[in-house]
Amino acid sequence: MMIKKEKILKDIKNRITFLIKHLSKKKLEEKLGFEEIDFSDLYFPKYTFQYISPGGNSSMSVDVKFDLENLEKFIEYLSEKIKWQNSVEGQRALMTPKLREFIKERDNYTCRICHNSTEKEPNLLLEIDHIVPISRGGKTEVENLQTLRWKCNRRKGAKLVV
Ligand SMILES: [Zn+2]
Repeated sequence: MMIKKEKILKDIKNRITFLIKHLSKKKLEEKLGFEEIDFSDLYFPKYTFQYISPGGNSSMSVDVKFDLENLEKFIEYLSEKIKWQNSVEGQRALMTPKLREFIKERDNYTCRICHNSTEKEPNLLLEIDHIVPISRGGKTEVENLQTLRWKCNRRKGAKLVV
């Protein structure tokens, strides 16, 4: 552990000395962010996306350079995705059949209001309810979901409207 730490410290020291020796003061200031940085000599990683068909007899490859323009597009794409996920449609889309089944199982196929269950009443129609409705900023997350019998769900909805 100690040896490793010393090695890292020595390495950093060497690099700083190297920078001071080899760069002019102005250039060093630029590198350290004191002044406006000249972006023209920055290194941008290039990513290669490759598709190879299952049989292996055809392939496609695309190079994407992560330059400032592409980074900006990427950030825009991510923020759009996040905005959508937080929207009403996004939250509704997160409610998958798998999640519904998970919540019902967690709640033992029992309505959380009247405690009727499919065990007691095989034809009981159970629904998944957002405890805080999506329209009020509720999220499609397990903590905000509960199993309700459809009758209790309608009653709850009616109460909320008032
Ligand atoms: Zn109920």
